[in-house]
Amino acid sequence: MREDLLRHPVFKMAAEQFDRSADFLKLTEDVRERCKWPKRLITVTIPIKRDSGKTEVLFGYRVQHHLSRGPVKGGLRFHPNVDLGEVAALAMWMNWKCALMGLPFGGGKGGVACDPRTMSNHELENVTRRYTSEILPFIGPETDVMAPDMGTNEQTMAWITDVYATHAGHLVPSIVTGKPVILQGSEGRTEATGHGVAFLAARALKRLNSKVKEPTAIVQGFGNVGSHAARTLESYGIKVIAVSDVTGAIHAADGLSISDLMDHVAKTGSVKDFPGSEVVNPDAMLTMKCSILIPAALERVIDESNAADLQCVILAEGANGPTTTKADAIIEKRGDIFLIPDILCNAGGVTCSYFEWVQNLQRFQWSKQEVLSKLDTMMAQAFDRVVSFAERNEIPIRVAALSLGIKEVADVKSQRGLYP
Ligand code: GLU
Repeated sequence: MREDLLRHPVFKMAAEQFDRSADFLKLTEDVRERCKWPKRLITVTIPIKRDSGKTEVLFGYRVQHHLSRGPVKGGLRFHPNVDLGEVAALAMWMNWKCALMGLPFGGGKGGVACDPRTMSNHELENVTRRYTSEILPFIGPETDVMAPDMGTNEQTMAWITDVYATHAGHLVPSIVTGKPVILQGSEGRTEATGHGVAFLAARALKRLNSKVKEPTAIVQGFGNVGSHAARTLESYGIKVIAVSDVTGAIHAADGLSISDLMDHVAKTGSVKDFPGSEVVNPDAMLTMKCSILIPAALERVIDESNAADLQCVILAEGANGPTTTKADAIIEKRGDIFLIPDILCNAGGVTCSYFEWVQNLQRFQWSKQEVLSKLDTMMAQAFDRVVSFAERNEIPIRVAALSLGIKEVADVKSQRGLYP
């Protein structure tokens, strides 16, 4: 299994990032091994009846990286490329993200290999319900708390809550986060990840103030993260000049109206044909000149083929794992891009999930303003801590963020000792 995981390109990347930080931290071999490998790798098959009447068997996964600091926390992804290696890598990143943010969680991630874009609501409900019942023995508010990720949303979380509540015999709102607000979801959770990405990009911009005059942004991916990041940037007065989704990319030199674009996407299902915009090549869009580039889609989109050509000042990683190890090396060598690494940049989502979990456990509901101001405070503190740690130790900012997270986990594991 070790070798299988290490052969997977995304897991390999997460493992290389881990090793680099573990070297910096000088972790002993035993602690390093205990931190690196996931505690539980769960694979299930999900038989569902398609609307056509045909029965199909899908593969689903849940990886719980470690439970040493609390329940595992992390999203559930529906995407055709999902497999065990990818989910394991994403669970490992969640781990360091939660620890870096000081949340009492380990990292987890789940996924089902399917294409939600081609599935009816009824089929999606069946997959969600059956996946949940297959992993029921392994989840719970003190064991594993799921949340939305790519291809899933608050409706998915409502179905999971329903399955869990039906089996428990009563409503257990703390079983998932990112639920609809009427089901005791948290105000602000939907926009939290994107808002956090934009908030940190703007904070980075402030640090580089003298360099950037009229800031512009480009956003790759216009799902939950990308769209809300764009909207918050626009609210800060930063022009969003290009945006892409799976169907293509659009550009407007004077800036796109994000709320109009969100309406357009809600109506047509894609960013294409947005009035006042011109079509651009989605790959070429990544290397267009801008102040802030936000990859907010899949992993490994910034690689050795485009890293040298990037023309952004700030690279704000809304997605998990968007930059390969080779691209990292190129960006470090260039030295002219301010990177906000994924586990810090997109941590707004899980931080707000933590708020939701706390509210659920306390049977309490905070206002949106309270949630977002608590979120901004925690994001700002984490950002400043990572930046000063990187500067003090003269290490790349990704190594700094990962090291702060990994050290938390390593210390807890050492302190708890080894059972038996
Ligand atoms: N899926 C999100 C992430 O990758 C959020 C996870 C959560 O809220 O638990 O960070």
